[in-house]
Amino acid sequence: MELPENLQVLRGKVAIITGASRGIGRASALELSKFGASVVVNYAASNSAADAVVDTITNAGGTGIALKADVSSISEVDALFNTVMEKFGRVDILVNNAGITRDTLLLRMKPEDWQAVIDLNLTGVFYCTRAASKIMLKQRSGRIVNITSVAGLMGNPGQANYSASKAGVIGFTKSVAKELAPRGITVNAVAPGFITTDMTSELSNTEEILKFIPLARFGQPEEIAGMVRFLASDPAGAYITGQVFNVDGGMVMA
Ligand code: NAP
Repeated sequence: MELPENLQVLRGKVAIITGASRGIGRASALELSKFGASVVVNYAASNSAADAVVDTITNAGGTGIALKADVSSISEVDALFNTVMEKFGRVDILVNNAGITRDTLLLRMKPEDWQAVIDLNLTGVFYCTRAASKIMLKQRSGRIVNITSVAGLMGNPGQANYSASKAGVIGFTKSVAKELAPRGITVNAVAPGFITTDMTSELSNTEEILKFIPLARFGQPEEIAGMVRFLASDPAGAYITGQVFNVDGGMVMA
């Protein structure tokens, strides 16, 4: 649903959301669009799901395009940003959301399980952030939101690769926030707990997990998208950088 014009605080902004065909990325794309941003719906494989997200955006009166790119590939990331610049001429918001799991216990973890997760969840964030920051530095403004995980803060058995990638994103966020702050670019991370998406649909120990969530339920993708939009908005996110926001039903209380 389109908001009245005076509430469209992201009007005129261009946002790239990686992995926006499904789950948290999809919800973030819809949320940023609802607040007026033109949205690039990046995806790797789910062509028709990405098109459906764009249809939802355009049917509500917004602007969106779907662009396929594997963000763990530097050449595909460069092509993605070139296409966005050709079409829109600027990038104001980057949401580094694309992510995968390859869960297994350490002794069973194959080097390819390790590498695939690091390549997308951490190196992909580096590729996209570098490409976006080149543009944002010239604009002297920008918002970068990295989706990490509570697993990167507290660890999780069976997720050594995933937790390492997400902890890496937190360190990356803080370093890059310090580098880019003088040019008016903020860089923050959002750490979801358990959110109802395809990524968590196969979990068999839901009852066990719920014992560790004070709010006693899984979160919804829209509840992460709300925080993403807050950080991308003015004046809400303007004076916040280098921070990690847990949106996890109270799982991690620092
Ligand atoms: P999801 O439902 O599995 O969706 C993953 C998205 O990433 C899809 O749009 C997928 O696109 C895209 N993607 C996969 N590989 C890609 C690649 N190489 N290049 C570009 N896009 C790619 O996942 P989700 O649960 O929404 O998770 C989104 C983010 O939140 C991830 O970073 C995840 O680690 C993080 N997170 C999730 C939870 C949770 O409980 N769900 C908790 C903490 C953190 P295709 O459809 O085209 O494959």
